[in-house]
Amino acid sequence: MIQFNQVSKRYPGGFEALKNLSFQIDAGELVFLAGHSGAGKSTLLKLIAGIDRPTAGSVVVNGQNLASISRGALPFLRRHIGLIFQDHKILFDRTVFDNVMLPLDIVGYDRREAARRARAALDKVGLLGREKLNPISLSGGEQQRLCIARAVVHRPSILLADEPTGNLDRAYALDIMELFKSFHQVGVTIVISAHDESLMADYGRRILRLNKGQFTQ
Ligand code: ADP
Ligand code: ADP
Repeated sequence: MIQFNQVSKRYPGGFEALKNLSFQIDAGELVFLAGHSGAGKSTLLKLIAGIDRPTAGSVVVNGQNLASISRGALPFLRRHIGLIFQDHKILFDRTVFDNVMLPLDIVGYDRREAARRARAALDKVGLLGREKLNPISLSGGEQQRLCIARAVVHRPSILLADEPTGNLDRAYALDIMELFKSFHQVGVTIVISAHDESLMADYGRRILRLNKGQFTQ
């Protein structure tokens, strides 16, 4: 599903954020990505999402080599990927519902089908009663749930979450982890990054540990 072969990423300016990484994530796996701030977690997730390209090696996602994929094919690939990134901002000038509709509006779904899917996604994250609100009135944990609803509304086969529990109290963080577990149970491939490993330990899943762009044990 996701395969890195001797992947390096050097940013303009020369900093090498990832160094010769090789690994594979199978379809339906839930994998954690651990490492201190600056270890390269976001960089790795951006390469999987096709937001950035490797400077060396190959990144293969859903059978497509992202190093050689055409620009035209990228949006199609992205439709199979749900992103929960820290800089994926909620739009505060529209309702909770419209925030979740946004990815579907872009793809051009039939309005009624889109609305049905948006409600299903909001239901899944426990925000169905809140859809008419402005997201500003949601708590931090609820805003994170909104981001998750928006990320899954087009039913991606891969879900990438960059520090999804970073700013949350432990109880809210555990709720969010349970949500990811429920998507994992229906077969979605999931990669979750965090600098705090304590949340990961309980789940008995594979942990990829990054340190200065390289894997450690
Ligand atoms: P993490 O997500 O683990 O905190 P990042 O992948 O964000 O790590 O960053 C890894 C390293 O790459 C950091 O040292 C960071 O400063 C550097 N870096 C990230 N993005 C850029 C960029 N666009 N240009 C230059 N350096 C970058
Ligand atoms: P639908 O009414 O769209 O068939 P489901 O009840 O099957 O909805 O799922 C509820 C929501 O779960 C979906 O609208 C979607 O947001 C989310 N979801 C994301 N990925 C998947 C998946 N692979 N399988 C099932 N549900 C998913």
